[in-house]
Amino acid sequence: MKRFRLITATAFLSFLMIVSLAASSQAQGKSSSPAKKPLKVFISVDMEGIWGVVHGNQCSSDSPEYQQARKWMAEDTNAVVAGLFESGATEVVVNDSHGSMRNIIASELDPRAMLISGSPKPMSMMEGIDPGFQACIFIGYHARAGSAPAILDHTISGSVIYSIKINSLEMPELGINGAIAGYYHVPVVMLTGDTETCRQAKEILGNDLVTVPVKEAVNRFAARNFPREKVLADLKEGARKTISSLDKFKPYELKPPYQFEVNFHNSQQAEIGLLIPEVKRVAPRTLSFSSQDYVEGFKLLRALISLASGS
Ligand SMILES: [Zn+2]
Repeated sequence: MKRFRLITATAFLSFLMIVSLAASSQAQGKSSSPAKKPLKVFISVDMEGIWGVVHGNQCSSDSPEYQQARKWMAEDTNAVVAGLFESGATEVVVNDSHGSMRNIIASELDPRAMLISGSPKPMSMMEGIDPGFQACIFIGYHARAGSAPAILDHTISGSVIYSIKINSLEMPELGINGAIAGYYHVPVVMLTGDTETCRQAKEILGNDLVTVPVKEAVNRFAARNFPREKVLADLKEGARKTISSLDKFKPYELKPPYQFEVNFHNSQQAEIGLLIPEVKRVAPRTLSFSSQDYVEGFKLLRALISLASGS
């Protein structure tokens, strides 16, 4: 009986030792692989600045040329997404930002990324951005209305907008949207498009911005597209470069009050906007308004463009 007790006690002690050893090795395992620090990247993808795109027909779903261009759009994006994940990104959100915003075929996007698809969306080309992101990237962007030579230059709406000024600075979409990222304290770290768009981006968003030119405009509807293999490699490398030097980028934050000035193509497009009380007419084709909150101002700007488009 005594010997049986001794055996039982020994067996019990051995059991305790095994359990405590297992627990300590588990704890060691945990401490040797700490949870990865979140590194979230927001991407807005337009179409006019995608490699291969030189004409509006390639960007419009009723043209047979569109089916090929939407594949290039996914390819340019995937090269950037691959570079981001390879260099430590933990989450990538891609917002389709052109026309119907249903251009990238969901199954053709890198499956590690999330796709925001469709429209209308409250924040339009910037839907999905929030202060939780560490970086913002613009892919396939184009130059402001009135640029030359630049592929398909326009600002938000080619049929309605002649120019948009914010705090006296004439803005391309990259500036308007860059300031939205700045509103949420997220720096724009990279942009891709034609050479003129890259130049405008550095001028507005700063020289640290990584730009990857994919083509050089000959005129509004013709470009030298750089060799495809090199472009895809440059897009991936550009993305890697941003992540390895993330600390140097500063958000593009404009100072309030935000003074918006919208110059339309014709006087009727401006007149319809006067239905909104705080909007003033400063010239026959030009409306102006002020806002203390940038995103509220941006939403009013979109409402004015929307009214003008239907007038
Ligand atoms: Zn577009």
